[in-house]
Amino acid sequence: MSGEECTAGDALLSVHQARQRILARVTPVTGRERLDLRAALGRVLATEVRSNIDVPPGDNSAMDGYAVRSADLPAQGTATVALVGTALAGVPFTGAVERGQCVRITTGALLPAGTDTVVAQERVRVDDQAVEIGPGHRSGENVRRAGEDIARGKPLLAAGTRLLPAELGLLAAIGLAEVQVYRRVRVAFFSTGDELRGLGQELEPGQIYDSNRYTLYGMLRRLDAEIVDLGVVRDRRDSVRHALQEAAADADVVLTSGGVSVGAADFVTQTLAELGEIDFWRIAMKPGKPLALGRIGAAVFFGLPGNPVSTMATFYQFVQPALRCMAGEPPRPPLVCRAVTLAPLRTEPGRLEYQRGILQTGDDGQLQVRSTGMQDSHVLTSMSRANCFIILPADCDGVEAGGVVEVQPFAGLI
Ligand code: AMP
Ligand code: MG
Repeated sequence: MSGEECTAGDALLSVHQARQRILARVTPVTGRERLDLRAALGRVLATEVRSNIDVPPGDNSAMDGYAVRSADLPAQGTATVALVGTALAGVPFTGAVERGQCVRITTGALLPAGTDTVVAQERVRVDDQAVEIGPGHRSGENVRRAGEDIARGKPLLAAGTRLLPAELGLLAAIGLAEVQVYRRVRVAFFSTGDELRGLGQELEPGQIYDSNRYTLYGMLRRLDAEIVDLGVVRDRRDSVRHALQEAAADADVVLTSGGVSVGAADFVTQTLAELGEIDFWRIAMKPGKPLALGRIGAAVFFGLPGNPVSTMATFYQFVQPALRCMAGEPPRPPLVCRAVTLAPLRTEPGRLEYQRGILQTGDDGQLQVRSTGMQDSHVLTSMSRANCFIILPADCDGVEAGGVVEVQPFAGLI
């Protein structure tokens, strides 16, 4: 029986229910390590970070122009102030600026003592050392205040923040060379199936190459997990048992693909029932109805369906939120937006469906989406051509062109 077929009489879990149950079962890792800033890219902060300094450290100019006292700004007509010096970024003007005086200033230069306003250079007329300013200026304009980006002593990044490029920059901006992050989540995985061959092997009739270990590798790498790839395991009870034991020995998570249907050679769930605990869930989701969740030793176990699109869809909807939670991130609902469908979408009511879509911005600025074509769960090209899932609710029996649908951009899935 294929994994997509329904077993009569069983209540299906909704995607939301399944996700909540999974999140309730996982806990963040506790191990920590100190890393150099660059090495911490993609990792999750283990402690809150506060800054010891203000950023910017002092009031400074947002423009190239002239630093003046706001009392010298004319309400009407013009005012002329005397140029008494220069302030460059990194080379402050050391004197004080008196009434009737100004200093030439560049972007990022500290505001000289006495000044509080920068008049942009294109708004003045300069004649030798006399700078003529017109009306319409506001006190404090073009000035960046000390600490307005990052205030000394205030929380800057919360524990549980994943360090992306902007965060690396922020940490560098406060002078932090090292950070405390959680250790990586260790994920061991293998594929099951007598038909599967590894790269470099010849295919005999009926055999296929194992692609799931590569999509899983990719999705796990993007999450910065520590990866233990245990290869392809034959559909034999003792092989599966041995692989599960090896996988669970020092991993936080054990992932398998294939063998969670109820076919004669589907030993994964049976074997796990002997070695640990297993729940076999049927989820009201397409693709990827069967999902096994359990525990083996200290590891959380996910048995993903074997069809390549089902593997990816169930990984993204269930494993990924669990791994992010285990990595120390707070749970977040998936990022979903609305788009207009450019062509009719066909589906049958029954299960929430994750069709693969191509999302783009239309000429009118609205998000538009179209199907990638064939939607069967073995069609992995649909994932490659897509940049989003089109989410069709369980009661949906199709959408006309021009209808609005919910989409989950892959970009939000990391
Ligand atoms: P299963 O879940 O084991 O019943 O497999 C369902 C379908 O997915 C079958 O057509 C398998 O050949 C295919 N499949 C299972 N594992 C993989 C894999 N690692 N790579 C590619 N296809 C797979
Ligand atoms: Mg199989």
